[in-house]
This record gives sequence, C-alpha cells and structure tokens, in this order.
Amino acid sequence: MRNDFSNFNFANLVFYLQDFTQSAATRTLKQVKEDVHEIHCSRERSRGAWTIIQEYLMPFVEKERYRILTRCRLHPDNDVYRDQEQHKIHKDTNEWRCGYCKKRFYEEKYLDRHFDNRHHNLLNESHGRCLADLCGALHCDLVLDIVQRKTKCNPAAAARNKHLCESLAHSCFPVNEGPSAGRLHELFLRQFCDAHTCTGNQKPFSRGHRKQISILYLVISILTLLLLPLVYLFVYLYQRGIKQGSQELRRISLSGRKKKSH
Ligand SMILES: [Zn+2]
Repeated sequence: MRNDFSNFNFANLVFYLQDFTQSAATRTLKQVKEDVHEIHCSRERSRGAWTIIQEYLMPFVEKERYRILTRCRLHPDNDVYRDQEQHKIHKDTNEWRCGYCKKRFYEEKYLDRHFDNRHHNLLNESHGRCLADLCGALHCDLVLDIVQRKTKCNPAAAARNKHLCESLAHSCFPVNEGPSAGRLHELFLRQFCDAHTCTGNQKPFSRGHRKQISILYLVISILTLLLLPLVYLFVYLYQRGIKQGSQELRRISLSGRKKKSH
C-alpha cells in the first residue's frame, strides 16, 4: 500500500499528461467546431450552491416530507454537474477516483479537470441547469473559499439577488400547494432572502442548518468513557500504595523501638 502511494504522484502525472495531450487534441478540434462544448457554468460555484441547499434547506424539506418538483431550479436534476459529482469516489485523503473510468487522482481538482476533458459529453446541458447562477440568491460566497473583502453593499445587486431569491421561493414552494409548501416558502424567505438588503443587519441562514454529530466528538466521548474507570483505578491503587507504605514504615519504626527497649 505504501509503495502504491509513493508511485502515486508519478501515476497521477502520467494520467494528467495523457489527459492533457488528448484534451489538447480535442481543443484543436473544438476550435474548429467553434467551441461547441464550452460550458459557461462554474463547477466550483455550483458545488457551493449544492452544499448550501443540502446544509440549509434540505433538512427542513425532509422534515416536511416535501417533494421538490423538477421545474424548481433547486432540484438535483437542474444541476448540470450532479451526475459527475456523484461519480466521484473519495477513497482516501489523497485518493480520488473517476467513477466512470476508475482512473485515480491525487487531488479533487485533477479529477474535476479530468471530467472536463474526458467526460464532458456526459453533461446534460440545457438552459437553466446551472446551479452556480443561483449563487447570488443562496449566498454561496459564505461557503466557498473566497477571501471576504469588506465591500460596500451595492443596493442594485442586493435588490437583484432578493428578486431571484423570492422567485425561487415562489416556484419551488408555491403557497397554493398545501400547508407544508407554505411553511417552506416562508422558511426560504427567512433563511435566504431577508439578508439581501443594504439596510438592516439580517444574517443569512437564520433558521439554522443540518445538525451533525461529528465523528471526532463521538471518538472523544467514547475514549473518555473508557479511560475514566482506568484513571479511578490508578488513583485508588496509588492511594492504597501510600497507605500501605506508611503502615509498613510505622511497623518498622515500632519494631525498632521495641528492639531498643529490650
Ligand atoms: Zn474518467
């Protein structure tokens, strides 16, 4: 296994070079075909939007047992990258696999590039299927690794984002579709749309997120429970040792005195 990993960088480089040369060839071809396959949708931002939906919306949708319709832009079918993302196999910290052709990669970004180069034909592109386009409404910057700059709030941009946000609430959770849709509509406005304002200081995601029991927390709890009796046992034995030791000393000193008196 160790050997496997020491060869990993090299293997990855070979894969990458293979991909690169083949993609260079397809690029030339693509240019001839006037860049037919160019896709104007950021994979990274789409992933950010997906994370936000899973973290800050789906727990409530699941609780209401509500089924999001495909005409709602938040529906998984409306994410152009969904199929590829589901074909990512993360085996280890430094091991990513392509679920289509089983190639290995050292980092996720190389697998992303591989998808772009080799499996772009699997993308189901059609209008309105770019989750990244919803980033303004969903506050993606908060989950993406973007250096947060203190920029002045732009009222026009805030109004635009609020409008997009409200249209998502209306199309995904139409109030006339029953009480659970109504509740989710209300929640969506509070959770995502209220914060699109330059006045006031509403924060996004005010209704909370998915509660996760972290594995680290579990491990620490179990270890503590296991170690506690051991600590008690150690303290008990230690104190008993001291007591016995002092009794022994007393006995020795007593017998010494007796010998002297004789
Ligand atoms: Zn592949």
